[in-house]
Amino acid sequence: MCRENFGADFHHVHRADLHAILCKDIAADHVRFNTVCTGVTQDAQSATAHFDDGSTFQADIIVGADGIHSAVRDSLWGADQASFTGHMCWRALVPVEQHPLPFVSPDASFWFGPKAHIVTYYVKGGAAVNIVAVNESADWVAESWTEPSTREELMAAYDGWHQNIIDLLQRTDPDQTFKWGLFDRDPMKQWAKGRATLLGDAAHPMLPFLSQGAAMALEDAFVLAEMIAHFPADHEAALKCYEAERLARTARVQLEARERGRTYHLSTPEEQRARDEALRKQQAENPNAVGIKAEWVYEYDATRCKERIGTMETVE
Ligand SMILES: Cc1cc2nc3c(=O)[nH]c(=O)nc-3n(C[C@H](O)[C@H](O)[C@H](O)COP(=O)(O)OP(=O)(O)OC[C@H]3O[C@@H](n4cnc5c(N)ncnc54)[C@H](O)[C@@H]3O)c2cc1C
Repeated sequence: MCRENFGADFHHVHRADLHAILCKDIAADHVRFNTVCTGVTQDAQSATAHFDDGSTFQADIIVGADGIHSAVRDSLWGADQASFTGHMCWRALVPVEQHPLPFVSPDASFWFGPKAHIVTYYVKGGAAVNIVAVNESADWVAESWTEPSTREELMAAYDGWHQNIIDLLQRTDPDQTFKWGLFDRDPMKQWAKGRATLLGDAAHPMLPFLSQGAAMALEDAFVLAEMIAHFPADHEAALKCYEAERLARTARVQLEARERGRTYHLSTPEEQRARDEALRKQQAENPNAVGIKAEWVYEYDATRCKERIGTMETVE
């Protein structure tokens, strides 16, 4: 259905598998680990990244792809804290090779409840089900991939939900259940300064409710590479066109992801009925429609970005 509707397939990928795919063509001596970037400076000839061990790296262009707490962003635009969105989240993987779960749909599934939702999808070629379980919470939870939680805490949060969800949560590994707080930032008006720019969560951190954060980072990377190739001798033009192509789209995804936090979590029966009825109607009218009404996300084609260069509005 995705190929027919949008010209490409839809893949669910485990983070480690995606990293392996992305890393396989990178020469080992092009990467330095365990060195923290503290900021970027620049002059008319080059940009320089500074690291906490005192070392520096000089380049024509520097791209800060250093995540939601980006030091590059801070050094370009001033320090500014990401804000806690009032949502926290559990993450767990359930292996299914030995014990298949016939009640888990092969498609990504969204389960909505009051002030909470759960998304399930298969990863690792169908060998495991990934669970992302989101709950509203006034309490701040440390932002980390590995804040430990327990199966009991996870199950208590979804007490009374559909039996399929209970059965799935019961199969999570009690020692491998993690939780973290969800943070985001408002869209920026501008990313680049001179020879330095931002990419991915450093530029546009978002709630994961449209499942698009990493997808946006990949689109950014593709478009940036295209623009640098198109303007090999004019780095600032490349960065301006990259930003013109990407900023409005990613800002829309950031804001829409926030809005999904509201519509997924409606609490009153009247609101829930109206939402569910609208989704049912859409499905009846078009069985191939995207369940969460996100066609506009998938219709974008990054590979055609160069065709838009002549009509882009760049920020001076
Ligand atoms: C619960 C949850 C579910 C999600 N689900 C999806 C999904 O289904 N689909 C999707 O597309 N996205 C999803 N996302 C979003 C996705 O994880 C992020 O958008 C994506 O990881 C952003 O990639 P990035 O490379 O920009 O930043 P990151 O993945 O955060 O990588 C930044 C890197 O920079 C390094 N770094 C940070 N600071 C410094 C520094 N000062 N110096 C040097 N290095 C530094 C970090 O160690 C890290 O390696 C989800 C996110 C969450 C929280």
